[in-house]
Amino acid sequence: MTNVINGRKIAKQLNKETKTRVDKLKKEKGIIPGIAVILVGDNPASVIYTRNKHRTAEKLGMKSILRKFPKDVSQAEVLQAIHHYNDDPTIHAILIQLPLPKHLNQTELIEAIAPEKDVDGFNSKNVGKLYNNENGHYPVSCTARGIMTLLHSYLDKIEGKNVTIIGRSILVSRPLQSLLINENATVTMVSLHTDNIDYYTKHADILVVAAGKPNLIKKDQVKLGATVIDVGINRMANHHLVGDVDCDDVKEVAENITPVPGGVGPMTIATLMQQTVDLAEWNK
Ligand code: NAD
Repeated sequence: MTNVINGRKIAKQLNKETKTRVDKLKKEKGIIPGIAVILVGDNPASVIYTRNKHRTAEKLGMKSILRKFPKDVSQAEVLQAIHHYNDDPTIHAILIQLPLPKHLNQTELIEAIAPEKDVDGFNSKNVGKLYNNENGHYPVSCTARGIMTLLHSYLDKIEGKNVTIIGRSILVSRPLQSLLINENATVTMVSLHTDNIDYYTKHADILVVAAGKPNLIKKDQVKLGATVIDVGINRMANHHLVGDVDCDDVKEVAENITPVPGGVGPMTIATLMQQTVDLAEWNK
């Protein structure tokens, strides 16, 4: 019997734990965790994501600022906002919603976020710590960490598993690769440049699909008993959201599978909340 992984339920439980930590921080240290989310322009998906992040943070009792800029904002103005939040002791976490309009230099903006407030873990200091599997506290990609939480909810261990990740993005796939390697998995990354992708997908105990291609993966590409994590979010012409995996088809062979919507998506926001409180605790 296939388990359809209930990301909403696991995210709800994580949010409950985060709320308890927020209450404790307030009561014992007088600290209210604060997050500033920067949104540039009016990309419909980004507007929805940032609204959800803002509302969830408020619901959990945090301070939340949603700073909106028009799509033609200058690099200097966004940089100024980042410096402002870097210096604001009531803000522990700063996030820039991606993608940004082409005229902005994304790398410069991410690097401008103070590493101890870089809640998405994209600043090169934090990326380096993850890559080196350093001890100590540092934030990592919220989607990647959220996927690890899902995997730990359904699997006894990651060690020794063969994992194939489709896609090699800096935002999700590469940090996930590091997290998995750090837990002694054997990780293969495939992309548009890979010949015979099926060879790698069929050998995977855990298959993560982050390509952004609707229904890319079918059951004949998946190992019997595999755990399949669908990261893709594709909005179809009828406005329905679908993942990169044909879930109904792949369910016939997978042991565990995440649906879209309701799988990885809710975990990204819940992990963002979790990491905001982490940052408030680590840097108090
Ligand atoms: P991306 O869009 O930057 O890059 C896609 C990657 O997939 C590239 O490395 C490309 O080579 C590879 N790829 C594309 N088509 C392929 C194919 N046919 N075969 C093999 N490889 C292929 O990656 P991203 O930013 O990780 O986003 C991937 C998807 O995940 C998108 O749909 C995005 O919306 C979604 N996403 C979801 C969440 C979430 O919270 N659920 C978070 C981030 C991204």
